[in-house]
Amino acid sequence: SIRVRFAPSPTGNLHVGGARTALFNYLFARSKGGKFVLRIEDTDLERSTKESEEALLRDLAWLGLDWDEGPGIGGNYGPYRQSERNALYKEYADKLLQTGHAYRCFCSNEELEKMKEIAKLKQLPPVYSGKWATASDIEVQEELAKGTPYTYRFRVPSAGNLKIDDLIRGEVSWNLNTLGDFVVMRSNGQPVYNFCVTVDDATMAISHVIRAEEHLPNTLRQALIYKALGFPMPKFAHVSLILAPDKSKLSKRHGATSVGQFKEMGYLPEAMVNYLALLGWGDGTENEFYTLGQLVDKFTIERVNKSGAVFDSTKLRWMNGQHLRSLPSENLTKLIGERWRIIGVLTESEGSFIEEAVELLKDGIDLIPDADNVLKTLLSYPLHSTLASPEGRPVLEDKLGEVAASLIAAYDNGELIGALEEGSAGWQKWVKNFGKSQKRKGKSLFMPLRVLLTGKLHGPDMGAGLLLVYKAGRGEVVAPHSE
Ligand code: GLU
Repeated sequence: SIRVRFAPSPTGNLHVGGARTALFNYLFARSKGGKFVLRIEDTDLERSTKESEEALLRDLAWLGLDWDEGPGIGGNYGPYRQSERNALYKEYADKLLQTGHAYRCFCSNEELEKMKEIAKLKQLPPVYSGKWATASDIEVQEELAKGTPYTYRFRVPSAGNLKIDDLIRGEVSWNLNTLGDFVVMRSNGQPVYNFCVTVDDATMAISHVIRAEEHLPNTLRQALIYKALGFPMPKFAHVSLILAPDKSKLSKRHGATSVGQFKEMGYLPEAMVNYLALLGWGDGTENEFYTLGQLVDKFTIERVNKSGAVFDSTKLRWMNGQHLRSLPSENLTKLIGERWRIIGVLTESEGSFIEEAVELLKDGIDLIPDADNVLKTLLSYPLHSTLASPEGRPVLEDKLGEVAASLIAAYDNGELIGALEEGSAGWQKWVKNFGKSQKRKGKSLFMPLRVLLTGKLHGPDMGAGLLLVYKAGRGEVVAPHSE
């Protein structure tokens, strides 16, 4: 059966690279009716933190990548934290020792350093060439009796190649004579990372290991351990790096790179997931818009590209706009309403203001916080300021003479406000009559009116905007504070 895993180390935030790896694993599992396992790789006790683990789980859940087994929810192959699996590692390390695939190495650090230096002088690869690979039983017993600390060292076959058939990269092969015998268990009893991963993947019955390309060197060691322990080898798929626009490896200096940062900036999980999927995958058509469910339907690992994908934050922003506009109106209204309540622009008597505002502004924004600026612009319409004030009027008249004078008259005699009071129909009727009285229509009517009433040459639907501004003037909203 198909079982995949995402195995983050809780030493930092979930960055976009990790999130994409998680997503591809999730899509693979869901598209094949398999299981998606979450394993926490906290062998590095010094750098691993509980907060980081919690943040990882939170960010994955926010993206909608729910796992079938893992910390918190359990499963048949637990525990799901490496720090809780030490007994298992010990058991398999001993098995390697018993079968001769590993041996006790009593070399001190100084000896190892010296061996490295000699290899360097002779221009040989830094492979272990100590005597413990071939030591006799008696020599070993002597050191054990003395209590000399020792590591478990894996015996790498001295010649030949190791090949894997990577689902993304095709055949990958290594020449074994460049790889020295490596440590699987330290002298303090701590198992080494590559060993833990292998034991975990094997005992958790992982069928496909989908992970970042930078783990390829680990795959060589892990494959050797699989063979030595007689475990069936999983299939491997190594996903290429995510690159910055300058084609270097994406890092913090290129701006936001963690899922948490994007969440804070107002990105939608739907857009994040869609954009991450396109970093190295496409269904072969021009289509770029997918929901998570559609991705599950379309995803195949064969279509994952083996070259690096460039992270384009402008495109992500654009994509967020697409997803934002495809949300049901009430969801978008809720999101923007929550934000406006938090930043304090909505008052108790907000009425239908948000619904109408969201309708008006949704085409012009990519991110939820963009809505603030549209609101600010709306609230700077001259309806309650320039048009109503003695100082403002000469400015308007100066610009648009005759139309301005008639508009001011319509304001003063209550006609304009009365029309707005009647809502959309009232406004439309008023515009029509005003145009007649001015002998203007179309652009020659709407352009000067727009300038007079909104203070701008362009903007969203003028009538809808004015109706909102009118409501705002009745106290449904207060202007957002400028930062
Ligand atoms: N724990 C590793 C990481 O955070 C992943 C290991 C793996 O996927 O094999 O990069």
